[in-house]
Amino acid sequence: MPEDKANSWESRADAHSLYGFTDLPTIHQRGAVVLTHGKGPYIYDVHGREYLDANSGLWNMVAGFDHPGLIAAAQEQYARFPGYHAFFGRMSDQTVMLSEKLVEVSPFQDGKVFYTNSGSEANDTMVKILWFLHAAEGNPQRRKILTRVNAYHGVTAVSASMTGKPYNSVFGLPLPGFLHLSCPHYWRNGAEGESEAEFTARMAAELEEVIAREGADTIAGFFAEPVMGAGGVIVPSEGYFQAILPVLRRHGIPMISDEVICGFGRTGNTWGCETYGFMPDAIISSKNLTAGFFPMGAVILGPELAERVQRAAEAVEEFPHGFTASGHPVGCAIALKAIDVVMNEGLAENVRSLTPKFEAGLAKLADHPNIGEWRGKGLMGALEAVADKATKRPFDGKLSVSERIANACTDQGLICRPLGQAIVLAPPFILTEAQMDEMFDKLGRALDKVFAEVA
Ligand SMILES: *Cc1c(COP(=O)(O)O)cnc(C)c1O
Repeated sequence: MPEDKANSWESRADAHSLYGFTDLPTIHQRGAVVLTHGKGPYIYDVHGREYLDANSGLWNMVAGFDHPGLIAAAQEQYARFPGYHAFFGRMSDQTVMLSEKLVEVSPFQDGKVFYTNSGSEANDTMVKILWFLHAAEGNPQRRKILTRVNAYHGVTAVSASMTGKPYNSVFGLPLPGFLHLSCPHYWRNGAEGESEAEFTARMAAELEEVIAREGADTIAGFFAEPVMGAGGVIVPSEGYFQAILPVLRRHGIPMISDEVICGFGRTGNTWGCETYGFMPDAIISSKNLTAGFFPMGAVILGPELAERVQRAAEAVEEFPHGFTASGHPVGCAIALKAIDVVMNEGLAENVRSLTPKFEAGLAKLADHPNIGEWRGKGLMGALEAVADKATKRPFDGKLSVSERIANACTDQGLICRPLGQAIVLAPPFILTEAQMDEMFDKLGRALDKVFAEVA
């Protein structure tokens, strides 16, 4: 290997960085994209190449990559008090203020917040809260967790068990007691001749059957993303949450809305549960919580769970759980600013005003004979590639169609994400109309190129 190649950023990335969730054959062939900085919705690599990041980093950099207010909030808090924990009855003033703010902007009348460093840990924490609660209330057998196939709840041993993806079998997961219901994706999973309403009713009936089979008194809780993100932007079938919530309520099973992607504006409202008109018992937040400027997650308990957990904790004198950096003052200061930026600087409004144009752009690309479905809500959307539009037959997996589309986009300076055979778009909330045109133009060219090769 020539010396300059051996010393390239790409080779250095290869040498000592273990890539997570990365297609290794692709990366061996193309090399990693090593980034140095960002500006608005654009990122720049070590060669000075510019990319429009149509995935907001990993769904989270909703205010772009250089928001001055967020940078200032971080700098000011680092100068004031750069780190502290939230154990032993101590916590920073920023932590107190963020909890107040999260309860204020939550759909709940009242509640309590617990902090983590990530969305995975927030889901993991919520499961432990439920186990703790049910045991304290004399129901230690109430431990099973219900989620859905295709759901993404994270990567820790517990949250990976909640995630409904086949790749976790390489870890011997899920753990026992993590049950996956059907994915409410009508286009893909609806039976021949089945109406959407019938499909939704079938999803609720399945939940009822699983509860009857397992025993309601063995189930700790049900978790769902309002729109499945990493499952491929799966929008629930019409009336889905209205159909399943009464079933859960009847059996006393808490419903937790995993709002790690949907929370703080992505679907056009502050919360995905608002967009879909349901009231959960608790909310999981991360990603947008700090606009991606700090690793942080939060469990937001609604009033009923907050009170029950408080009572359970009083009984054993403590809730024995927490991370060293839970409620980190810099993270909290950034989150306070991020919430203000999204809600009061016109970002949430921009999501709403851009949505019709976003949907029109997706719908136009879905005219392509090799796009089976477009789907989305607010500023998250997907195009599903198919070999045959009429039968919805997917491409041969060996063709790696969505990977090739994403690579063709990267070559043109557009970052978008292959997920299964779909291409996912989740641009930052600061996107302009011109930048949206750029995104669809580049994606359209990539689709033409790859489909011409494989179709
Ligand atoms: C990303 C994600 C998580 C996990 O968050 P991490 O910070 O990556 O641990 C959990 N739930 C949903 C819905 C997510 O999109």
